[in-house]
Amino acid sequence: MKIICIGRNYADHAAELKNPVPKQPLIFMKPDTALLRENRDFYYPEFSKDIHYEVEVVLKICKHGKHIDSKFASNYYQEIGLGIDFTARDIQAKCKEKGHPWEIAKAFDSSAVIGKFFPKDEVLNEEGHLEFSLQKNGETVQQGDTRQMLTGFDDLVAYVSQYFMLKKGDLIYTGTPKGVGPIAIGDEYEGYIGEQKVFSCAVK
Ligand code: ZN
Repeated sequence: MKIICIGRNYADHAAELKNPVPKQPLIFMKPDTALLRENRDFYYPEFSKDIHYEVEVVLKICKHGKHIDSKFASNYYQEIGLGIDFTARDIQAKCKEKGHPWEIAKAFDSSAVIGKFFPKDEVLNEEGHLEFSLQKNGETVQQGDTRQMLTGFDDLVAYVSQYFMLKKGDLIYTGTPKGVGPIAIGDEYEGYIGEQKVFSCAVK
């Protein structure tokens, strides 16, 4: 399986990092070794001094698809979850400065926290969006609503599938709202869709 991540999909987050809002979705990938499942602990890696949390809604792809029309894109994901895209901001800044790819800042081991998945009908409201949040040590640090996304779920699936054949089990991390910040050893994170707890992760 592969993990496809969308960068700068919320205008308020692009602004907080002083990044321009992209005209088209900004895509990067993580390998399957990046997954951190089942509420496992995250061990702060030695190569960075500035790992940030980014809470993101995650789509789970349920069947093969290529060049998917956005009209039919919702048939390609039945379940929605929540995770964290851990980012080594210090390394990412160096990569950006040099015009290098971001992989070592984004795709390292355990950088993709993933929680439970829910049938999409259970978590999407009548207008087809959902609210989500991240708590750090019991305090809400990020709050988002997927209607704020610059590119919505169906258009993301359509766009990504122009370049990468989607396969059952692939995950799409759909971008983070504002409020990202550094993690520290001893922190406890909890992700929520609405009032429902989806994952927890302690930093060791
Ligand atoms: Zn992200």
